[in-house]
Amino acid sequence: MRTTNLYAPTLRETPAEAEVRSHQLMLRAGMIRKAAGGLYTFLPLAWRTIKKIEQIIREEMDAAGGQEVSMPIMQPGELWMESGRWPVYGAEMIRVKDRHGREFCLGPTHEEMITAVVRDEVRSYKQLPLMLYQIQNKYRDERRPRFGLMRSREFIMKDLYSFDKDVEGMNVSYQKMYDAYTNIYNRMGLDFRPVEADNGAIGGGHSHEFTVLAESGESNIAYCDSCDYAASDEKAELKVIKAEAEELLPLEKKATPGANTIELVADMLQLTLEKCIKAVAFQTDKDELILAFVRGDHEVNEVKIINQLEDVLELRMADEDVIVAAGGCPGYMSPIGIKEGVKIFVDATVMEMYNACAGANEKDVHYINVNPKRDFKDVIVSDIRMVQADDVCPHCGGTLKMTRGIEAGQVFTLGTKYSEAMHATFLDENGKEKPFQMGCYGIGVGRTMAAAIEQNNDENGIIWPKAIAPFEVVVVPVNAKNADQLKIAEDIYNELKKQGVDALLDDRKDRAGVKFKDADLIGYPLRITVGPKAVDEDSVELKIRRNGDMTVTTREEAAAKAVELLAAL
Ligand code: ATP
Ligand code: MG
Repeated sequence: MRTTNLYAPTLRETPAEAEVRSHQLMLRAGMIRKAAGGLYTFLPLAWRTIKKIEQIIREEMDAAGGQEVSMPIMQPGELWMESGRWPVYGAEMIRVKDRHGREFCLGPTHEEMITAVVRDEVRSYKQLPLMLYQIQNKYRDERRPRFGLMRSREFIMKDLYSFDKDVEGMNVSYQKMYDAYTNIYNRMGLDFRPVEADNGAIGGGHSHEFTVLAESGESNIAYCDSCDYAASDEKAELKVIKAEAEELLPLEKKATPGANTIELVADMLQLTLEKCIKAVAFQTDKDELILAFVRGDHEVNEVKIINQLEDVLELRMADEDVIVAAGGCPGYMSPIGIKEGVKIFVDATVMEMYNACAGANEKDVHYINVNPKRDFKDVIVSDIRMVQADDVCPHCGGTLKMTRGIEAGQVFTLGTKYSEAMHATFLDENGKEKPFQMGCYGIGVGRTMAAAIEQNNDENGIIWPKAIAPFEVVVVPVNAKNADQLKIAEDIYNELKKQGVDALLDDRKDRAGVKFKDADLIGYPLRITVGPKAVDEDSVELKIRRNGDMTVTTREEAAAKAVELLAAL
């Protein structure tokens, strides 16, 4: 392709509407244009990258046994009524009516549709396992579409669904997808982690989020520096930290006037936070009071508490009068003296503390020498705290680090959630009717492209990993009006094409500076420069975008050298 035939309207200025680098750079590099909030047009450069990402995904899905299909984007509402999700999906679902008033939605996902396809056709265990996938647009009317392709309302997703005869089979399918996803992100050259994810709302089963590491990401993740353990901050399991044993001293009250935060108490009594017990009071969406206690230097993890409560979706801070009615005193709370029947969660690490400080459920008073094993009655002991840097890895005992990332894909076991609700069954070896064991596996194609840019850019622009760059190499004649330079550049370009390299010839008659700036902004992995020296001294320059490394070679050698440099990228 020649730049004179390429529609890539680059911008010098950063558009004000774009907050994150990937969005700014895609606009500036002439890759995307906004149609409306969360709706984008992909221009040729972006579309080339999208196609490359899709191709990598397709190859790995096929290699894992997936078969590509295409289901309608417009889905009948009845299917969603069968699964029970029509009323609960809420405002995120884009609903439409046809001319007869029948209800449809624009698919935000396709579990219902695929379950209906399989239920009508697959009758026997002999037809299993089955993995079907598609790559197509999804629609979600997100509350806050933002960050360009990262959270849009129309986006491209690869979604695969697995059907198995039993849980064992489902787990095999899950592992196949997990491995395929690992291959996909490795092939794209991205730094990523499969992160154990919380799937509380969907319930049971396994789930991993494939997270591309980037500071701008919305996910907080903990990962081990010695093994491959990684988990979202909400999910990360934590080991009990045992304090050194001490002689149990008698419980004692201390006046702590005005010290209604953990920091103030610690300061007043000259204690470290590790010696104090922190309280948080919540109310559930059914107005039940929940008290939670963690060590002073730790934070409460609401998700871990919610997952231990039945039918509770949300916690909020408790009202003062509710706390007081239960025998508590806001700012000065401990489990000691709370009325019977109140749910009190105590983090397992707190139970290992000795002679600690905690509230006395009296204004301006704290206890010292609190020994939870001796003093706390009727409490629920479990892991309820939030992971933090330097916690111990639950798998290998190594040290956990915290980082941020972008959820680019997710794998899920669904079990029989949809097959049971929608009566999708088959006959097993004994002729018995059974619901399919299912799994679902999504990759956001546009979000993956955005994540790749978030992870690979500098002040001059994008730095594409080779496998998903819109072009691998750009050949730039410094002065395209000079016939000799243009001829040499064309020869090199043609040789590259012959060798199967995805090359672009920047044959524009613009100033060299403009062309170099565009090359850096768009971020081709390699640039070959053909200037006056190429004509006079047979000297051609190859520059690697990522590190600026320069190699000088001859016209004859240029294409071969480019192939060699690309192979090493
Ligand atoms: P999120 O938690 O970020 O809203 P999700 O967990 O709801 O995403 P899934 O239903 O797991 O998303 O969808 C599979 C993949 O589709 C996600 O991993 C993500 O890459 C992509 N995706 C989801 N929502 C969007 C969106 N609004 N814009 C772009 N990509 C999206
Ligand atoms: Mg997800």
